[in-house]
Amino acid sequence: MSDKKIIKKSWAEPFKIKVVEPIKMTTKKEREKAAKEAGYNTFLLKSEDVYIDLLTDSGTNAMSDYQWAGMMLGDEAYAGSRNFYHLESKVAEYYGMPYFVPTHQGRAAEHIISQILIKQGDYVPGNMYFTTTRLHQELAGATFVDVIIDEAHVPEIEHPFKGNIDLKKLDKLVKEVGASKIAYISMAGPVNMAGGQPFSMKNLQEVFEFAKKHKIRLWMDATRAVENAYFIKLREKGYSKKTIREILFEMMGYFEGIWVSAKKDLMVNIGGILATKDKYVFEEARNMVVVYEGLHTYGGLAGRDMEAMARGIEEMVDFDTIHARIGQVEYFGQKLEEYGIPIVKPIGGHAVFLDAKKFLPHIPQDNFPAQTLATEIYINSGVRSMERGIVSAGRDPKTGNHHYPKLELVRLTLPRRVYTQAHIDVAVESIAEVFENRDSIKGLRMVYEPKYLRFFQARFEKLK
Ligand SMILES: *Cc1c(COP(=O)(O)O)cnc(C)c1O
Repeated sequence: MSDKKIIKKSWAEPFKIKVVEPIKMTTKKEREKAAKEAGYNTFLLKSEDVYIDLLTDSGTNAMSDYQWAGMMLGDEAYAGSRNFYHLESKVAEYYGMPYFVPTHQGRAAEHIISQILIKQGDYVPGNMYFTTTRLHQELAGATFVDVIIDEAHVPEIEHPFKGNIDLKKLDKLVKEVGASKIAYISMAGPVNMAGGQPFSMKNLQEVFEFAKKHKIRLWMDATRAVENAYFIKLREKGYSKKTIREILFEMMGYFEGIWVSAKKDLMVNIGGILATKDKYVFEEARNMVVVYEGLHTYGGLAGRDMEAMARGIEEMVDFDTIHARIGQVEYFGQKLEEYGIPIVKPIGGHAVFLDAKKFLPHIPQDNFPAQTLATEIYINSGVRSMERGIVSAGRDPKTGNHHYPKLELVRLTLPRRVYTQAHIDVAVESIAEVFENRDSIKGLRMVYEPKYLRFFQARFEKLK
């Protein structure tokens, strides 16, 4: 008998693998060629040339057998599909929003809600910008104002709720421009661009009271609301015994409406939600969806897609499912830390974010340190990540100058239910090797820049 003491602290996924998809292994030489052809932009790589794809968790999730079975029950009627009514009932049951419009993905819902609620010259305060969200707010004529707490901009500060809104900043804006100029407060959680950081229920309650007092609408980008609910359960006093479903429902109680990219929490490959308690906003949205998406009972989706979403809603609030998802992200982050690799703390919900400013301190922001790091990691091992720094931040629409974000990050995002611990170990070792050789890495120069959301299509050349 071994005298090794048994400590039961490991957990494993609450599912097993039924279908597998082979992935291609490439050589370093092949990857160097592929990276060059892609203009050193990981968004422009062919998926075929990627070994472990941590570009995004958006639409890259593995659906369950329950969801796949639902796909066979798609009612592809042009009008009044039964899957629409099923999905509508789940949105009401779990998000507490009685009025619902499906959209083909999250940004379509952002487009519609921005056009409805924003007048030219309005302001939209939010807890840090998100790329597509801010763009649609600006296209509708608003100025986005970041009112997140200062801690969110400092990668090494450990704060349990770095996604919180700073009420003093919000109050200052309202005093400056007047409440009537605020189209709505745009709250998201966990905050993607801050490193997947949640807001607390207490902060939400305070924002709600503030909004009520000033008669300002309060809307949420609820794309990862379940992940935010998980962090509230773990970190906030009074919530440890509540279920994820209860916390989600309580959270939703404070919002007038939500938009959701179903490609995240709902574990599907495509889909979006616009849902509200306001009948007037709903009627406008239902009318607009016909112009831009499709009839209001399919919104650019197939019936089968809506069925997968409805079933995804049921699965997303399961504690073991969300625990395994966030637990895998945590495992990834902890392993990187063991190598002394600088990451955003605390480790976020959907991704680990490398602090590229610390990783490559010799590369100035004008030479795109995070873009460079994402490229080097791909070339090293075929692991694909994405830039979340100056390229993603884009330009100020008024001055045309780069936005210079404080954070220069590389995001390594885990799709839900897709990769194993062994994949994570391989990714960690590859990043550690790049870290070891970091002094020899040079920056990039942008040679092509599209007008909107440039990070998707910009092209670069290596500095000599
Ligand atoms: C992905 C995402 C969106 C946009 O949704 P799409 O489905 O990609 O159009 C909006 N907000 C957040 C927080 C997201 O992560």
